[in-house]
Amino acid sequence: MDKFGYMKEYGFEQLCFFHDGSTGLKAITCIHNTVLGPSLGGTRFWNYSDEEEAVEDVLRLARGMTYKSALAGLALGGGKSVIIGDPKELRRDPIKREAFWRAFGRYIEGLSGRYITAEDVGTSTQDMVFVNMETNNVVGLPGRSGDPSPFTALGVYKSMQACCKHIYGDISLKGKTVAIQGVGNVGYYLCKHLHDEGANIIVSDVSDERLQKCVEDFGVTVVGINDIYSVDCDIYAPCALGATVNDDTIPVLKCKIICGGANNQLKNPTVHGLALQQRGICYAPDYLANAGGVINVSYELAEGGYNHEAALRDIEYIYRRMRDILRISDETGQLTFQTADAMAEGRLKAVKDIKSILTRR
Ligand code: NAD
Repeated sequence: MDKFGYMKEYGFEQLCFFHDGSTGLKAITCIHNTVLGPSLGGTRFWNYSDEEEAVEDVLRLARGMTYKSALAGLALGGGKSVIIGDPKELRRDPIKREAFWRAFGRYIEGLSGRYITAEDVGTSTQDMVFVNMETNNVVGLPGRSGDPSPFTALGVYKSMQACCKHIYGDISLKGKTVAIQGVGNVGYYLCKHLHDEGANIIVSDVSDERLQKCVEDFGVTVVGINDIYSVDCDIYAPCALGATVNDDTIPVLKCKIICGGANNQLKNPTVHGLALQQRGICYAPDYLANAGGVINVSYELAEGGYNHEAALRDIEYIYRRMRDILRISDETGQLTFQTADAMAEGRLKAVKDIKSILTRR
């Protein structure tokens, strides 16, 4: 991969490598864009097969955060960190664990506030407590905004309402059938909203334990992991993996709407976004639908501290943004993700232009 060429093409600001010899920490941080504010994005701890895979992941994820925060109206830019290694090994060694995360915290502190971290796949709230011993540039701490998943699920639910209004002329999910792939943190809370409103819920998951909990709590119907795509339903909600909307699945989908919490749902956005449009399936851009978590965590940075009510109001606003994007896409013939991208890029450009005016003299 030609890294500088790629960074230039997609407007990346910074890619940093960090190594700590005593703990073996190998971290990479990518700051994609700080036009709207400091970059914010979680730290993913993953057993990457090689460095190249880790770099590709951090670049892709950081850019995604820029678009997510821009479209959500936050004064935040996009960034992300990845750590190469096995998080389970570290959890078995409590003494090394503290030193490891404090080394990471010192490194984050060295980025002088241009990047703010949080938990992500493979990291926990307790890890962030150790990071916080060395830097204040960390969010998602206990006693503050807490677990982002219920807020992400609320944003997905609001997005579903906007899609239903667009397709069926009514926001109600009562009597609608929703097929949820993955009932982990986000999927479980999404089930709760849908159950409360009287939707029919079909789910799949690789974890029997997670499925059992949803059967007991919400009376959901369970199907096999490969059957979730072709079930008769109004909405397919990917809440597990990326790239599940692809050449193999699009032909068998029976839904009218795709709206879920997973990142990067379209395997190839242009190809598969177009295929959905041609099949008359409404696609809710994933990075708007799943922005509830980052909106909530951003309130930890607000003056006066975390404000739960204000965060909820802001997440409710996802409904209007989604409604506008679906309407504009219909009017212009653009794919929904293209409309979302154009809105995010429009905001980035407008703010960048203002900043250049103010700093010209
Ligand atoms: P999670 O790990 O708690 O849940 C994912 C679930 O998917 C698990 O129960 C897992 O067993 C299941 N799963 C894995 N492979 C599967 C398969 N092939 N078929 C069906 N189920 C499968 O993760 P989460 O926090 O609920 O996040 C879900 C998705 O939403 C992820 O893509 C994540 O990146 C994205 N997301 C999450 C948040 C958040 O606030 N947690 C915010 C934005 C985006």
